[in-house]
Amino acid sequence: MNLENFNNKFKDAINILKTFNKNGFEAYFVGGCVRDFLLDKDFSDIDITTNALPEQVKNIFPKSIDTGIQHGTVTILVNGESYEVTTFRKEDEYVNHRAPDKVEFVSDLKEDLDRRDFTINAMALDYKGKLFDFHNGEVDLKNKIIKTVNDPNERFFEDALRMLRAFRFSSRLGFDIDSNTLVAIKRNAKLIEYVSIERIVNEFRKLLEGKGNINSIQLMLDSTLNSYIPFLKDIEVIEDFSEYTFCQSLYILSKTNNISFDDLKSLKLSNKELKQIKEYEKINTDFKNDIQLELILYKYDIEDVRFICSYFKYEDESEIEKIKLPITSFNDIDIESEEIIAFINRKPGPWIKEIIVLLEYEILLNGLVNNKKNILDFLTKMRDNI
Ligand code: ATP
Ligand code: MG
Repeated sequence: MNLENFNNKFKDAINILKTFNKNGFEAYFVGGCVRDFLLDKDFSDIDITTNALPEQVKNIFPKSIDTGIQHGTVTILVNGESYEVTTFRKEDEYVNHRAPDKVEFVSDLKEDLDRRDFTINAMALDYKGKLFDFHNGEVDLKNKIIKTVNDPNERFFEDALRMLRAFRFSSRLGFDIDSNTLVAIKRNAKLIEYVSIERIVNEFRKLLEGKGNINSIQLMLDSTLNSYIPFLKDIEVIEDFSEYTFCQSLYILSKTNNISFDDLKSLKLSNKELKQIKEYEKINTDFKNDIQLELILYKYDIEDVRFICSYFKYEDESEIEKIKLPITSFNDIDIESEEIIAFINRKPGPWIKEIIVLLEYEILLNGLVNNKKNILDFLTKMRDNI
């Protein structure tokens, strides 16, 4: 243990553990931050586990938020940082292969670590940096192995989401999955149907982001776990998604595997995400219909256009960079709707929109200079032609 490194990485949080101790409680760093610390990776969240009950935690740290009080979790705020503090607990009443709504608090650190999913996630550190590792997590970290704490069949039977979590950690860390753990996933795969789609999507998102995503997705397909999950069930063709955003990855997956928009909807994404994916489809359709690049850039966000353009190889990236649009929205056109109405001298109606579209087109593609005089000249010619 490198003490200097420990002090550096956990900084102010060490005092939080000491404060618990002074008040007569045990408290440890636990889970992801311990794993990432031992891997010498950066982490942002520090989770703390303690034998203090949530009310006692709140007494010691008055600045707190009840983030998951029914699970024993309180978020405390110290020096502008937030920390999740969870009371030692066990989850012994799993119903329908899901994490229970109610938990039982326990007094022993080991029991708390026993309920955790994988050996590499089941380690704790005290304020001196002493490691508590009852399941050989450190060895599995060294060997780059994802292995359940205790019998994998039982653990997946209790909470089926853990199967997907195995692939997401293997993706994120580039680790293999222990062979017994993998066999148990194959055996229990169907139980994932009991898990809510929101929890599934949350893990799938992280799986896609990981540097080992291709391997892990392939392992998931081989295990047939995906065949019990909407949208994922139709995935056959995969590629490296780690450089793409979640929405971009889903769009690519839906295109390369011919998955319909309705299937995508069953993932219950946010409206914002659905809108984003629809936007990609609109841009793609415009490119397929040979709409001019200027018009596409005018209509859509440049980053979205870049993504579609480069993924589907419609144009060279340099073509996009070359284009400097004279206007970026109809507000930029150097004439107001009222002036158009006065000039054409007709009752307002849908024709105004048509004129604006025409002006956009002329300015973007036909070199009409965007100033009032030129626009009025153009409208005069047009009026004379009507
Ligand atoms: P990340 O850095 O990606 O957030 P993490 O290890 O913190 O990784 P979380 O999903 O935030 O992952 O979970 C925190 C900890 O809680 C895990 O390390 C694990 O010990 C425990 N845990 C979370 N979900 C489960 C579960 N379904 N079953 C058992 N233990 C779990
Ligand atoms: Mg976490």
